[in-house]
Amino acid sequence: MKILFVSSEMSPLAATGGLGDVVNSLPRALREKGHDARVVLPLYRQIKQDYFEDLTFMRWAMIRLGWRTMYSGLFYLELDGLPVYLIDNEFYFGHDNLYIDYTFDIERFAFFQCAVLETLGEEMEFEPDILHLNDWQSGMIPVLLEAHYKSKGYHENVQSVMTIHNLKYQGIHGREQVQDLFDLPEVYMSEAGILKDGVPNFLKSGIQFSNRVTTVSPNYAKEIMTDYYGEGLNGLLAAQGWKVSGILNGIDTESYNPETDPEIKANYSAQAWKRGKAACKKALQEELGLAQQAKTPLFVMVSRLVEQKGIDLLLHIIDELLAEDVQLVILGTGNQEYERKLAEAAKRHPENMRALIKFDSKLARRLYSAGDIYLMPSIFEPCGLSQMIAMRYGTLPVVRQTGGLADTVQAYDKFKYTGTGFGFLNINAHELLFTAKEAIGVYKNNPDAWNNMVRAAMYSEFSWDQPADEYIKLYQDIKKETSRID
Ligand code: ADP
Repeated sequence: MKILFVSSEMSPLAATGGLGDVVNSLPRALREKGHDARVVLPLYRQIKQDYFEDLTFMRWAMIRLGWRTMYSGLFYLELDGLPVYLIDNEFYFGHDNLYIDYTFDIERFAFFQCAVLETLGEEMEFEPDILHLNDWQSGMIPVLLEAHYKSKGYHENVQSVMTIHNLKYQGIHGREQVQDLFDLPEVYMSEAGILKDGVPNFLKSGIQFSNRVTTVSPNYAKEIMTDYYGEGLNGLLAAQGWKVSGILNGIDTESYNPETDPEIKANYSAQAWKRGKAACKKALQEELGLAQQAKTPLFVMVSRLVEQKGIDLLLHIIDELLAEDVQLVILGTGNQEYERKLAEAAKRHPENMRALIKFDSKLARRLYSAGDIYLMPSIFEPCGLSQMIAMRYGTLPVVRQTGGLADTVQAYDKFKYTGTGFGFLNINAHELLFTAKEAIGVYKNNPDAWNNMVRAAMYSEFSWDQPADEYIKLYQDIKKETSRID
């Protein structure tokens, strides 16, 4: 099977979050299983600079985008065996940031989608069976494919899967502008077409026109059909429920491996983790000037500091939590208000809290390996990678049981003394505090249960092996269905 991933991010080339990790890992997992998976993304300035010598120029063309005719270059790069196509246009992608400003981004990704479709097949020397689309930045592709290509006899066998990594961002823009950008026939300018409540909506279009829709955990797939999590698209998702499913993300278990990770103080395994983990904890305490107390539970958090991550819940109870015999280290960037409030809390509690306001992947690994307890009280969480990384490093997560957190963390059972973390249900700061205290209680008073939980967490299976099989089955189902119709 030939699959082309269309995405605005791919790590390590260009990424701001989990989407980038998925687009680097999933195609590789598919390739290992014998499928020809490739990726196409914009040639951002950073990629041009960092990978200049590895880029091969393939072709260029002029592309019509509304009244403009724009240059579109196609470059090729092989990244550790994974073929990556890059769409070049200095005006749209020659910037330092991946995303710039709402209106301009609509035009930039409108161009990107048109350019991808124009290069499909002969120009790319690759005609995929499946276009695997990701978030709003590629949501219009199934519509454009139908309106401008299939209707004229081109790419008739190309089908599409739309994966929602974040339902909050939908790509909504004015009717005239969007119709002009894409030159769409009037029939598509309706609620049955690309409009949602009268305005064009890229993500809605992707949901409506692709063969299948997936999101990144089974539980979140159910949640997005409800008012609370549905971001206005729950009605459509429920109506098209037959084609919506959740496939859990994996993590890169080779890179995130405490047995081999070169960034951490001491390596350790699921069979023998105590000494190594203690050495990591001691080293981090020393690095940050915290008291080197082996028995004080160390809470860690590595996160974007945004509302979604439940920072308000934490801020509400942070003083009460820090009144306990605990240490807390937070690494994150984001909303300036949260950055400031966390820095202030750290100032109020110099003896047992640090707020590290920066993005630092190596430091993140030191936190994952040193911590005893990982905090992730998300308000919503499509999948979440951090809690899986924490578990792999034997750091037990305290999570709100929502989205992918409910699918990946087995909450502590106080009768059986089992689990791989601790969970609470409601968006309530004191439930978070109570659950954090429950974790502290098990850590301090029931070391046997704690040790069993750490081992169970470290043995949890979070690789891409099973998710890749589920995607392959989905692609095959689509192919079976569509070839029957043909
Ligand atoms: P999201 O994609 O919503 O940000 P995920 O949990 O899916 O959340 O993925 C976040 C990833 O980004 C994790 O690998 C986490 O370690 C990493 N990360 C987040 N903030 C930082 C930071 N300040 N420094 C280093 N890594 C970070």
